[in-house]
Amino acid sequence: TTFAELGVCPELVAGCDAMGWTSKPTKIQAEAIPNALQGRDLIALAHTGSGKTAAFALPIMQALLEHRKSFFACVLSPTRELAIQISEQFQALGSSIGVVGTPGRLLDHLRDIKGFSLKTIKYLVLDEADKLLDMNFETALNDILEVIPKERKTFLFSATMTKKVSG
Ligand code: AMP
Repeated sequence: TTFAELGVCPELVAGCDAMGWTSKPTKIQAEAIPNALQGRDLIALAHTGSGKTAAFALPIMQALLEHRKSFFACVLSPTRELAIQISEQFQALGSSIGVVGTPGRLLDHLRDIKGFSLKTIKYLVLDEADKLLDMNFETALNDILEVIPKERKTFLFSATMTKKVSG
């Protein structure tokens, strides 16, 4: 399978080529991307190194290309380092659209930055959901979920499917 065969548009296939991913989509990408492009929510078991970032970044950016207006993706990851890596991958693949951050930082933004709002969010990504919950971000997450529209798509990625995650 190629990225194009998964339904990825030419601009973003070019982004994948630019990343040097001339070979093939990874397993998680091959399974997640077509479903996400069809508008489904995702719950995926995926470790770091599996290519999970592109599995959510490509469908989000493709949706952005199709509806170029007030549009926002919110990607929550457990650590600052991971948030930076994700944000770099979004940029390398072709766009900088989203707020990629940890739950605590996002709440700081909501409180401190005038006009910062999550009302136009169309995609919420919970990356490493098991760690997000283990690191006691649960309360912060609930606060964020309150201010993100309910009609968004949700992509949840976790290395393990614990009771906390599936609940
Ligand atoms: P991740 O699991 O998202 O942290 O990605 C792990 C690494 O795999 C990153 O350095 C990506 O650049 C790389 N990667 C992602 N997708 C592919 C692919 N289809 N082919 C080769 N490398 C990839």
